[in-house]
Amino acid sequence: MSFEKINVNTDIRHWLHTIEQGYRYTAGPIGTKFLEGIKAGKLLAGKCPVCGRLLIPPKAFCQYDFAEIKDLVEIAPVGVVRTYTVVYEDSYGNKLAKPVIIGFIEFPGVVGGLIHYIINAEPNNVRAGLKVRPVFKPESERRGSITDIIGFEPI
Ligand SMILES: [Zn+2]
Repeated sequence: MSFEKINVNTDIRHWLHTIEQGYRYTAGPIGTKFLEGIKAGKLLAGKCPVCGRLLIPPKAFCQYDFAEIKDLVEIAPVGVVRTYTVVYEDSYGNKLAKPVIIGFIEFPGVVGGLIHYIINAEPNNVRAGLKVRPVFKPESERRGSITDIIGFEPI
């Protein structure tokens, strides 16, 4: 038996275009409610009926006790950057006009978090622990998607 190890990242292939298949995925009942919340300009977390934990993004079942989660509660739109990365090049290695910052954002008292853009900030000013808030698109442009949030900006 042999193991192959990828040593250079040119060995890793990625697909840059849409796969032309007719598949559609549903966000599921709880995910749909979460996206409807975003469309309304709210962050909703799933609330477990057994342990009371709040989870974001909400899941159909609690990861601690497997209880079914049906209820969502609005949480304060205040997040904390747990970790982040700064992207300087596109997938082809071309330098971006402006670096893009992507962060993992947690919410106090809530299990999980969201990966999203960090906006209205310079890379030098972003750090773990930075408090951020969501910036939503204008209501008329929201479609019930995570991209209804433009990004999270420092508070
Ligand atoms: Zn639970």
